[in-house]
Amino acid sequence: MHQLLSLMHSSSHCVFLSGAGISTLSGIPDFRGSKGIYKQFDADKIFDIHYFRKDPAYFYTHGREFIYNLEEKEPNIIHRMLAKLEDEGMVKSIITQNIDMLHQKAGSRRVIEIHGSPAQHTCLHCGKKFPYELISPIVHSHQVVPKCDRCGGLVKPDIVFFGEMLDQNSFSQAISESSQADLMVVIGSSLVVHPAASLPLNAIKHGCRLVIVNNMPTPLDEYAYLRYTDLEEVFRYLEKEIH
Ligand SMILES: [Zn+2]
Repeated sequence: MHQLLSLMHSSSHCVFLSGAGISTLSGIPDFRGSKGIYKQFDADKIFDIHYFRKDPAYFYTHGREFIYNLEEKEPNIIHRMLAKLEDEGMVKSIITQNIDMLHQKAGSRRVIEIHGSPAQHTCLHCGKKFPYELISPIVHSHQVVPKCDRCGGLVKPDIVFFGEMLDQNSFSQAISESSQADLMVVIGSSLVVHPAASLPLNAIKHGCRLVIVNNMPTPLDEYAYLRYTDLEEVFRYLEKEIH
């Protein structure tokens, strides 16, 4: 692991790419993964924009169990160390597939959320914005499906659903970061969901070194300069070495 640390010390633009695997230590299941504990609902359906428009209660009812309880979740050693590494100037930015807002809660400032976030919600009819703090109590009350107080329209979290366009601003930032990076460290992502999978490839094309830390094989393992499987072990090591 000292190899990773010396790469980080010698790099001038280190970017991390994080996936669901880093938040399981915070008690957030990898609900997009096929082995997630939320087998009782269909993750493809819950995040499908067409289904959401038809039956929003399906999303909000199940969302109570893993999105509208995020205020109770705490960042773990991985989130905390990444915030520290950014403070130390060793990490320029974090591109994340996660929608749990834990990087920000840990103090990271430059976070690019390529799958959006429930921090904001938007009325699909008039575009009015609503913060998470306002929506979460409504979802937990008997009312379940929040409606816009201006037009009565359907309110949706700013998470990128299947069938929706990516947020172009976030995605172009992610492309720009991956193009500038001389070191990209992928953590807790199996790199199968696009666009996340295309970012390391773009980085490599621009001469970047790739490090992958994931407990499962990824399609990009053959391109990895270093490869680790135990996330917690890697971050315990970094915690010990960086004061
Ligand atoms: Zn509205």
